[in-house]
Amino acid sequence: MNILIFGPNGSGKGTQGAIVKDKYGIPHVESGVIFRENIAKDTELGKKAKEYIDKGELVPDSITIPMILNRLKEDDCKNGWLLDGFPRNPAQAKALDEALKKEGISVDIVIEIVLDREIAKKRIMGRRLCVNDNNHPNNIYIDAIKPNGDKCRVCGGELKVRPDDQDEAAIDKRHSIYYDAKQGTMAAINYFKELSAKNNGIPKIIELDGRPGVKEVSEKLLSQLG
Ligand code: AMP
Repeated sequence: MNILIFGPNGSGKGTQGAIVKDKYGIPHVESGVIFRENIAKDTELGKKAKEYIDKGELVPDSITIPMILNRLKEDDCKNGWLLDGFPRNPAQAKALDEALKKEGISVDIVIEIVLDREIAKKRIMGRRLCVNDNNHPNNIYIDAIKPNGDKCRVCGGELKVRPDDQDEAAIDKRHSIYYDAKQGTMAAINYFKELSAKNNGIPKIIELDGRPGVKEVSEKLLSQLG
């Protein structure tokens, strides 16, 4: 099963992605995580990517597209993958679609978590990351997932903030990229929606209202996945 998941920063996309990954036993390939790993290891790719990431801009396609297409060729992706954070613009969408076609495979499902820009912003600024597992949900602004004091509500681990989560200008920039239906992520989503319309509903498009709590959204998601 090859799945794309979309949602603005702050929509709970990472959490829902982890659920999908567990359901199908497929790797969760997250472009942002791959970049952060490369930055932590101080690789050449990490050094190049860091200057863009720190500014809240997209890393150039010439770096990002080959990085993701190569990752999807690795052994653990043989039986499918969940791609998260990519594609983020029409050029990436097209490059992915064409690379998959060459391999004789296609995207099976596209998940889109729909959330208003202002709500998404507040959720980001309240987000806290557990040092033990990025997917442990903690948010100081959402009652259902408030941390336990200053510790992770799931495992009691230390909590950190991602510096770019507190930078309002960077958040606005990231959202401007996401909600841009001409050159940004919305355009990439529309690319696959149009493909689906032309191709008898393949990939299957699952649109989810991101406003309810994590549990409600995941129940809707699982019921639509079947
Ligand atoms: P994320 O963790 O998905 O918010 O990604 C963190 C940062 O990594 C983004 O703000 C971008 O600078 C960069 N990044 C992640 N995915 C992509 C992508 N598909 N294309 C370009 N840059 C990306």
